[in-house]
Amino acid sequence: MNEDFSNTFILNTLRRCTKCVEPETHETIQFDENGVCNICHNIEYKNTKIDWDARKKELLDLVAPYRGKGLYDCVVPFSGGKDSTFTLWYLVAELGLKPLVASFDHGFYRPRTLENNERTMRKLGVDFVKFRTDWKIVRRLMLESLKRKGDFDWHAHTGTCSYPMQVALHYQTPLLFWGEPTAEYTAYYTYDTKLREEAGEHRFNRAANLGINAEDMVGFLGKSVTLRDLEPYRFPSAEELRKLKVKSLYLGSYIPWDVRKHYEVISKELDWQGDQVEGVPPDYPYEKIEYQLQGPRDYLKFIKRGYARTTHLTSIDIRNGRMTRDEAKRLVEKYEGKRPASLDYILAVLGIDEAEWRKIATAQAIPPYVHDFNNEKRDEPLWDMAQWNHTP
Ligand SMILES: [Zn+2]
Repeated sequence: MNEDFSNTFILNTLRRCTKCVEPETHETIQFDENGVCNICHNIEYKNTKIDWDARKKELLDLVAPYRGKGLYDCVVPFSGGKDSTFTLWYLVAELGLKPLVASFDHGFYRPRTLENNERTMRKLGVDFVKFRTDWKIVRRLMLESLKRKGDFDWHAHTGTCSYPMQVALHYQTPLLFWGEPTAEYTAYYTYDTKLREEAGEHRFNRAANLGINAEDMVGFLGKSVTLRDLEPYRFPSAEELRKLKVKSLYLGSYIPWDVRKHYEVISKELDWQGDQVEGVPPDYPYEKIEYQLQGPRDYLKFIKRGYARTTHLTSIDIRNGRMTRDEAKRLVEKYEGKRPASLDYILAVLGIDEAEWRKIATAQAIPPYVHDFNNEKRDEPLWDMAQWNHTP
């Protein structure tokens, strides 16, 4: 057997959508009588039933009252990844808005992303605020959230969602634009007009904080951490947001979201450089390149659910008619599920060993998937890993 195909168990043990390759362990997935998943149906709806010209007009009408009114026309939450970079480019270059760019720094940005961001800000000419939280607390939050939820990213999820809302309040700028709607990859929300997705408190509690709020976290971490320390991870109160009449929207609800096209646009317009990501084929140099911990995050998902990012990316390409299901299966088998070299990096941050990591991860597994550590392969280190800050 070809070495690259030695882990075929991945595709054999889980039931997968008959159109894309999403498995039964994917969050919110449901299959119809033909075995086609609800996310495929969402995308079919997006590609065939939505009048995108009407949506674009809706967008122009929507932003009109905000132009030139306050200090800024809108706030753009920004990571420097392809989605937020495209969103920012679109709002400035296509719509002519004056945004305030707000970036929560989770402490794990990769060097090429930081260079991309510098170029983007210069080329677009925008005001940019950035906020990084206490590293010692970040480390404790990561371990606590990993132990309780099998996900070390509580601080990143909550900070990324909350900080731009806090910025909106601080600068009295009620309009926010996020990028990719979650209907692209889960069925928490759909593309249906009546259920237009808003990035509000409801979504924060459903998709961002893993069911743990800052008050819970203070209880978990004990006396040395107070609510004051966790303020950056708290979503502003509904009352404050209502008073300012905050609208927190996804650009992808108004223009069709196509990551491959968007990647081409930002490469051309902003000289945005792609990068390699652990566990992802080099054909996707634009996907989640900003985050040092993407490899461990996807690996953790694989241990729990038997699939990871290549499944997600190839499924998008299948739905958009750019890849066959067989080609997707080949890439999934070749790239997914390897032990990332950066696992050593995050274990030092978390202060645990690999045995404990495995114990915590397998305790959160979603049946029927059972991970086989004995047949794992190891991935090569990323080119920039040696440049990351290795002070734990
Ligand atoms: Zn599907």
